[in-house]
Amino acid sequence: MTKKILAIALTAALSCTALLAGCGGDTENTAETNSTTGGATLTMATNAEFPPYEYMESNEVVGIDVDIAQAICDKLGMTLAIDNIAFDSIIPAVQSGKADVGIAGMTVTEDRLQSIDFTDPYTTATQVIIVNTEGSTVASVDDLAGKTIGVQLGTTGDIYASDVEGATVEQYQKGADAVQALKQNKIDCVIIDSEPAKAFVAANEGLTILPDPFEEEEYAICISKDNSELKDKINTALSELKADGTIDSIVAKYIGSDAE
Ligand code: GLN
Repeated sequence: MTKKILAIALTAALSCTALLAGCGGDTENTAETNSTTGGATLTMATNAEFPPYEYMESNEVVGIDVDIAQAICDKLGMTLAIDNIAFDSIIPAVQSGKADVGIAGMTVTEDRLQSIDFTDPYTTATQVIIVNTEGSTVASVDDLAGKTIGVQLGTTGDIYASDVEGATVEQYQKGADAVQALKQNKIDCVIIDSEPAKAFVAANEGLTILPDPFEEEEYAICISKDNSELKDKINTALSELKADGTIDSIVAKYIGSDAE
């Protein structure tokens, strides 16, 4: 049995070597085609701590946002490059031109629109509250006053928590770190986007997402205010990808009903 699996693996490895570009899926094939035809690079800044939108898998950044970015690049004849940085460094990276776009489950807010532009939204999300299943003193958003709330630094969850009167906000670099602090009872709850919340709760025992979501949000791609030509191209690509069902199928690939 083991030998058989090894043999299959070897055959696969050999045919990979023989075909070169044939292994690694559509993404890499497209990238190669583009680089040989001289297509421009689209550098996407992201923070791969936000499953299922962007996270690490075998040393690679994967997720909904990566697939959407790749689909946009395929339409525009561009090669995708990914810059994995801290969430609160994404807007500065895009403003300074280090990255062309920020794609990071990023919510469009009035405040961010002061310094950066956004494409049309590609999906909606909500903010939710995660608590310890046993012994939580937070049962709804009305219980947050006087509590210690964990958030990921610089996110909309951070902003909402900071608006709660009498609450203490603990900021973490990663949502996963806030979740660990909650498990250790260092904080009373975590405010975070709904899909990462589901992923964190699925990966950790003893946590519950409170039933009432609050704050509906829209995710879009952030782009420099001086880059309206690229923004228009991305918006055209996005509307085609919405119309032909590509966005829906990418989302469905990562957010199946079994992820609920
Ligand atoms: N949607 C939230 C925001 O824009 C969180 C995004 C993230 O942590 N990647 O602030």
